[in-house]
Amino acid sequence: MKVLKFGGTSVGKPERMHSVAQLITADNDQKIVVLSALSGTTNALVEISQSLSEGKKAQAKQQIDKLESHYRTFCDQLVKQEAGRASAKAIIDEHFEFLNIILKISFNEALNKDILAQGELLSTRLFCVSLEEAGISAVLLPALDFMSIDEYEEPEIPKIKIKLGNLISQHKGEKLFITQGYICRNARGEVDNLKRGGSDYSASLIGAAIQADEIQIWTDIDGMHNNDPRVVKKTFPIEQLSFDEAAELAYFGAKILHPASIWPAQHFNIPVKLLNTMQPEAKGTIITELPNGNGAKAIAAKDGIIAIKIKSSRMLLAYGFLRKIFEVFEKYRTPIDMITTSEVAVSLTIDSEAHLDQILKELQPFGTVELDHHQTIVSIVGNEVAATPSIITKLFDAMEGIPLRMISYGGSRHNISILVNGQFKEKTLQVLNKGLFGLE
Ligand code: ASP
Ligand code: MG
Repeated sequence: MKVLKFGGTSVGKPERMHSVAQLITADNDQKIVVLSALSGTTNALVEISQSLSEGKKAQAKQQIDKLESHYRTFCDQLVKQEAGRASAKAIIDEHFEFLNIILKISFNEALNKDILAQGELLSTRLFCVSLEEAGISAVLLPALDFMSIDEYEEPEIPKIKIKLGNLISQHKGEKLFITQGYICRNARGEVDNLKRGGSDYSASLIGAAIQADEIQIWTDIDGMHNNDPRVVKKTFPIEQLSFDEAAELAYFGAKILHPASIWPAQHFNIPVKLLNTMQPEAKGTIITELPNGNGAKAIAAKDGIIAIKIKSSRMLLAYGFLRKIFEVFEKYRTPIDMITTSEVAVSLTIDSEAHLDQILKELQPFGTVELDHHQTIVSIVGNEVAATPSIITKLFDAMEGIPLRMISYGGSRHNISILVNGQFKEKTLQVLNKGLFGLE
């Protein structure tokens, strides 16, 4: 069985949804198809929630109405026959009635998650109506019946495996299953989600749970590129990546994949393909266990990084200092991305402000603490990249004139990361594209 995930732009227009229907019926293999919300929907739902949390009901009502009319127009083109139109209308009525009821009750976090879930619920239900109109047999598997996270927001693969297995076994002989990406239930049984962009993660978790032959992530670009195509002019798709390389790239900012979406596939050794709905015959990128080639393969950037420097003469010749510092971050469940040390200071980076005030307060006793906001981590990733002759020379030559805040080399053989002020991000990606790949 294969898992195929289609992102928001792949289902964002009625004709794109029709193309997805063609793609998934091109062969007769058994598949689970994971869908995102139509492009723009989750952002719109975030705005509705925001308005409600601020008590701006009139504004929320306007935003809901605007989204509703978008869906009505969408369905006018998606389905043409009377039966299909009636089903689509009933689905839209149901979900927008829910949003309109929410306007009348008091807002809370659980309700926020319910609001955010509407996008994937709508896209999958409407897609099923469109499949039915086209005479394609498919079964909708509600993600809320099998996808779950524990109290630490970690997915529960063994439970998912059992529940999903049971659901699938109720439909013997069925070739096509449709389900929602992104949404799940939390430890309290409430509707929750796998964070923004989480549909990739859903696909990977489903792939792991059913031990799929392959996980395909379909987007609107022909695979993972060697650099950010929005920032540099010339980039090229990478044909093959190892799980380690892909995980580093996804984590360090390659937007094509949710950062957590590689580990489930890697753990169960399931190949992941990144494919393009606009160009289905293009090779895309295949991610497997095998490393392929040496040297710099791609550059990715992660914005919104905070650098924290803790300076203390007590660190001199002392042991246990780093442990005490790390314990503060552990207490607030805040991951550290980069770290560099000197004999009297340590600099590290985090990507979340959520507990920054508390963290800073607890770091005060250890020494002087300095903060730099709006930093960007730029990572150069590739099999054995750190051992590639002259890589550091090329890197420093290219970076001439751009101030470096931190550099991390040797943490893994597949990654060299540098930290620059966010204002130098674009310049850094451009000079490295030239310096490492010879592309302007
Ligand atoms: N719809 C969700 C989002 O926009 C999940 C996803 O598309 O992966 O973040
Ligand atoms: Mg995405």
